Amino acid sequence: MLTGVSRVQLRRAVADLPAYTPGRRPPVGAQAFKLSSNENPYPPLPSVLAAISDAAADVNRYPDMMATELSEAVGASLGVAPEQVVPGAGSVSVLNHVLNAFCDAGDEVVMPWRSFEAYPIATALAGATAVPVPLGAGGRLDLSGLAAAVTPRTRVVLVCTPNNPTGPAVHADELEAMLAKVPDHVVVVLDEAYLELVRDPRAPDGVAVLAEHPNVVLLRTFSKAYGLAGLRVGYAVARPRLAAGIRKVTTPFEVSSLAQRAALASLRARDELLRRVDRIVAERTRMIAGLRDQGWTVTDSEANFVWLPLGERSTVFADRCASAGLMVRPFAGEGVRVSVGEPEATDLLLEITAAGL
Ligand SMILES: *Cc1c(COP(=O)(O)O)cnc(C)c1O
Repeated sequence: MLTGVSRVQLRRAVADLPAYTPGRRPPVGAQAFKLSSNENPYPPLPSVLAAISDAAADVNRYPDMMATELSEAVGASLGVAPEQVVPGAGSVSVLNHVLNAFCDAGDEVVMPWRSFEAYPIATALAGATAVPVPLGAGGRLDLSGLAAAVTPRTRVVLVCTPNNPTGPAVHADELEAMLAKVPDHVVVVLDEAYLELVRDPRAPDGVAVLAEHPNVVLLRTFSKAYGLAGLRVGYAVARPRLAAGIRKVTTPFEVSSLAQRAALASLRARDELLRRVDRIVAERTRMIAGLRDQGWTVTDSEANFVWLPLGERSTVFADRCASAGLMVRPFAGEGVRVSVGEPEATDLLLEITAAGL
């Protein structure tokens, strides 16, 4: 029994916050494919599972606060210094830290829209103001539009590549043109959550971009290609002084010992994991070709999902998929994002879509 009515007010920014909508889960006990959260359909490799269970024996101890070994291994894999790497509990968490490290109340964060729904939430929580810039044709980021939206209040520009939920990656030349226009005291975040799935040869090399541009911050994750979404581990890569600032904002002991060991084991098993990524990319190609053959409009994708710009028909389509055992992610009035999962899930999708809408 609760007695009394609380008169405590939430922070204005929190009260006004849109809630993050997670991908739909199948009803308990029901058989369904979950293509709503861009997860990797493959279970952990035996070597990764073994690292996790070994680490479980020590969970009475705090993890290595600085995730030293992981920062070293990530740094070595990218050819950057370990002090440039800031691990966190998923790259969404690291994004929060980046915005908290650079934004004061009233500062502006320029972002593409529609894009990753964590962006406006993280911006509001940092006390900053989101400045959305509409996507261009084909669900592509409008990089000159993003550069043009920068004002004296802008502290950060977010670049989601490939863009979630539409799928295309930015091109190196358009990114360079944008970086040339954005003042060098403005942070440009390249959110490369789906980097390992990109096959477009025009896509930029984030580490090379960071080497040339001291205001760039990369965000990467073990959640997608590496299949560790349940353990929460991602990282930022930045110039050492900026990385040190971001590190100050992180929660102490944020990355669990299990997540650190699993991420290290995944880096050791990189080749094997990237072969799985090749299979996901092949499945993406089959999904897009199958849908287009049936006459559907599908946006090009460099990620582990495809985007159907169905507008007002999005919710109806998602409901139809759900009743056939396929969980997809509708964005009401805009489109539907379908993650690339098991081949059986693609088969089921193409069966559903063959009937038209
Ligand atoms: C999935 C995703 C992330 C990564 O999230 P984690 O917190 O690392 O699981 C980051 N950015 C975008 C655009 C994503 O789609």
